[in-house]
Formats: sequence, C-alpha cells, structure tokens
Amino acid sequence: MSEREMDLAAEYGAASAVTAGAGPPAPAITDVSSATALMRERGLRVSAARRLVVEALLAADGPMSAEQIAEGIGGRVPCSDIASVYRNLQAFEDIGLVRHVHLGHGPGLHALAVAGEREYLTCERCADYRAVAPEELDEVRDLIERRFGYRARFTHFPIVGLCASCAAAVDDAFGLIRPPQPQ
Ligand SMILES: [Zn+2]
Ligand SMILES: [Zn+2]
Repeated sequence: MSEREMDLAAEYGAASAVTAGAGPPAPAITDVSSATALMRERGLRVSAARRLVVEALLAADGPMSAEQIAEGIGGRVPCSDIASVYRNLQAFEDIGLVRHVHLGHGPGLHALAVAGEREYLTCERCADYRAVAPEELDEVRDLIERRFGYRARFTHFPIVGLCASCAAAVDDAFGLIRPPQPQ
C-alpha cells in the first residue's frame, strides 16, 4: 500500500470518527506515562513503536505530519517506520489520544489531544496558524448556524484567510498597483 493510500485509509477512519462526534475527551497528556495509561485504559496495547510516536508528539511544538514523526521531529527522537506511524496514529485517534488537522494543502497534521478540543485559523499566504479554544469561535459558529443552518467546526479543517501581516502586505501591494482614486 502506498503512503497516499494509507493517508486515504486513515482519512476514512478519521472521517467516521468526526461525524460520530468528537469522541471521548482525553485527559491531559503531558508525558509518556499518562499517554500509555490512557492506551491501557482504552484497550490499546503499549508497544515500543507506539511509545516512540507519543515521544515524537510530545517533542513536537505543533501539529506534525506522519512523515515528520517518522523522521523523529528533526532528530529530537529516534526515527520510526512510516507505515507503523500511520497505523499507530490511526489507533491513537480511535481512542481519543491524537487528533489531526489539515493546515493548507499538505497532509493531515497530528497532535496529542492535550487540553480538549482546539480549533485552527491558518494563513493561505504564509502558512502561519493559530490554535484557539473552541469557545473563542462560538460567536462565528452561532452566526453561521443562524444564517445558513450549518454548525461549523474548525478542528479538522481550519478557518483559512490572511494573517494580519499578510493582509497588510496584500493591502500595500494592492495600493501600489491601483491607480490613484480621484478625490
Ligand atoms: Zn482529515
Ligand atoms: Zn500570513
């Protein structure tokens, strides 16, 4: 099976989990032992390979792709086999230990579900992103639901737009090419 197929297979599993709801909330995972405790509690065998994926996610300073995890987060932890990383990330999602988000065109990025749910905003120009507590977007969610009947969620796919500095840069560029407006 190719990496792309595995990505798609992982995607199907994740999609069903998402439509079924956010899944059981994970307790705060701050170290390997709290992660392995959750794995045992939810019936997932603790293996050396799984421990390594948890170590990589703990060492990461943001959501990471399966490739980055397999490569050991830039050398911070030992490398893993990519196929087992995909399988273990999926198993972790199934028990609520890990979530993934799509920031831009790249593959899904994985993070430990540490402090409950996070929602994301990302810049389509510079790929910067912000993770925020869902409550911070409730006003937007309520507006969309009232107007369009959709309950928006920004956990799996972020709000995409321009960050403040890119918005300013785009405004500047636009100002330069736009002919002066008559007073
Ligand atoms: Zn996805
Ligand atoms: Zn930007």
